Amino acid sequence: MATFKEFRNNLKPNWCPGCGDFSVQAAIQRAAANIGLEPEQLAVISGIGCSGRISGYIHAYGLHGIHGRALPIAQGVKLANRELTVIASGGDGDGFAIGMGHTVHAIRRNVDITYIVMDNQIYGLTKGQTSPRSAEGFKTKSTPEGSIESTLSPLEVALSAGATFVAQSFSSDLKQLTALIEAGLQHKGFSLINVFSPCVTFNKINTYDWFKEHIVNLDQFEDYDPSNRIAAMTKIMETGGLLTGLVYQDKSRKSYEDMAVGFQQEALAKQELKLSEGEFAKL
Ligand code: SF4
Ligand code: MG
Repeated sequence: MATFKEFRNNLKPNWCPGCGDFSVQAAIQRAAANIGLEPEQLAVISGIGCSGRISGYIHAYGLHGIHGRALPIAQGVKLANRELTVIASGGDGDGFAIGMGHTVHAIRRNVDITYIVMDNQIYGLTKGQTSPRSAEGFKTKSTPEGSIESTLSPLEVALSAGATFVAQSFSSDLKQLTALIEAGLQHKGFSLINVFSPCVTFNKINTYDWFKEHIVNLDQFEDYDPSNRIAAMTKIMETGGLLTGLVYQDKSRKSYEDMAVGFQQEALAKQELKLSEGEFAKL
């Protein structure tokens, strides 16, 4: 069985020292090993941005795609080979600005993939502009007088769009982040995991210390019930979205693949012919 080290390759990430994305990379590698995957059973599809480089730093199948388009590619990969475990990944600009149309409809579609967003509240790769996740009043090169747009709440959007798995974590909490990625990978449907992943170079407001001071960790509430959608929405709103943990999970809804008639017929034919996925694909 592969260990997390087998999900490493010989490329040295060129993220800035201290960037939150290092922890996300480590958590994906650990989670994949912990649930018993081999590198050839995993595909990591990323968009554009500093975080988009992550697909190149994990020993698995991977594709560093185009801006905002990690999700359509990842869904296509999963539907073409449903034996693969598929992760889509990218930043808040990639997924919640140019890619937002894909994000909402991927959530509704509920294909069995895991979407990990490295949310640093800024555009890092292009040297610091306001993103949909930046706070009102946030000053950057693109908003020198402070942002006058409201801040997007991705967890509220996800719940409204019918998400079946919504979680949020923090780069500093490797244990929780790894556990949530494991849960997301094992969830039968689309899972969104938003990760507060600080940009230490361009975002001097939302720092590690800032998050430590503001985050409310759901793990401390024994009576929190992640199957209660109304409670989940309430908690997100009460905390201003600054909560971590498993926010919502609906285990009853089937994935897209399990509902699509063509795939059901294929599964039945495979059973009748007693063929594996690989043998069936060769027919
Ligand atoms: Fe990370 Fe920011 Fe550096 Fe990009 S610019 S690698 S997001 S710290
Ligand atoms: Mg960003």
